[in-house]
Amino acid sequence: ESVLTTKTFGRNYHYVPSVESSNSVARELAAQGAPEGTVVVVEEQVAGRGRLNRGWFSPYGKGLWFSIVLRPSFLPIEAPKCTLMAAVALIKAFRRLGLNTAGIKWPNDILVNGRKLVGILTEMNGTMEAIAYIVMGIGINTGSTQDELPEFIKDVATSFAMEGVEVDRREALNVILEEMEKQYNKVLAEGFDSTLAEWKEFSITLGKDVEVRAPGNTYEGKAVDLDRDGNLMIERADGSVDRVVAGDVSIRPA
Ligand code: ADP
Repeated sequence: ESVLTTKTFGRNYHYVPSVESSNSVARELAAQGAPEGTVVVVEEQVAGRGRLNRGWFSPYGKGLWFSIVLRPSFLPIEAPKCTLMAAVALIKAFRRLGLNTAGIKWPNDILVNGRKLVGILTEMNGTMEAIAYIVMGIGINTGSTQDELPEFIKDVATSFAMEGVEVDRREALNVILEEMEKQYNKVLAEGFDSTLAEWKEFSITLGKDVEVRAPGNTYEGKAVDLDRDGNLMIERADGSVDRVVAGDVSIRPA
């Protein structure tokens, strides 16, 4: 499986040893017309970001830090579901790579035993009518050991190495790009519904009591479902159901 078998993903490939963030390189390439499937892989990010401008620890050689350019024909309103699609593809890829214990935390993290293995950051450019391009940034901790983690994530992060699964980063990237391309083509052909159904299977958020921190509003409830738009549905104590479009959801210990 060490030979790239994808049709488009990774066929236009950029490797950069050190950058601020792989997404910023990919955005620049996309703005200059880089084709769909363009992949930017970096060895280290010196200003890696999560959502809401939070820092993403991306040390040299210790992860798969990469971005993919997409140019889908679907409407911009569908774009947020790309994050869910990526998470589904990653779970499938990880199973092929021998890691079977990963689950998805809504909306954009992959966790193993409550610790974050992957972060996904989706950025879109275009108008209300049409997507010009989407850049999907994916950060996967592969080689970091517990004592290499900085203080701010030492209790919240994990890696393939910490989970006892050895990965060859090149092989892993191939498998991931294959699964991503497959999932993306399925979405283009059939829409998001079946992918969201798979997301539900892999979710660790559904069925759990959670705390929702939406802008200006923190409350508790139970995550009962994902709607067709990829929003998380929260049932509150009074029986009302709330849809979370954006925000932070933490799973409360049982
Ligand atoms: P979330 O969406 O879960 O809040 P973000 O996507 O915003 O997370 O990612 C940033 C957060 O992820 C940081 O605040 C930090 O707690 C955590 N983090 C940063 N780097 C890493 C890493 N390499 N592995 C796991 N977690 C990390």
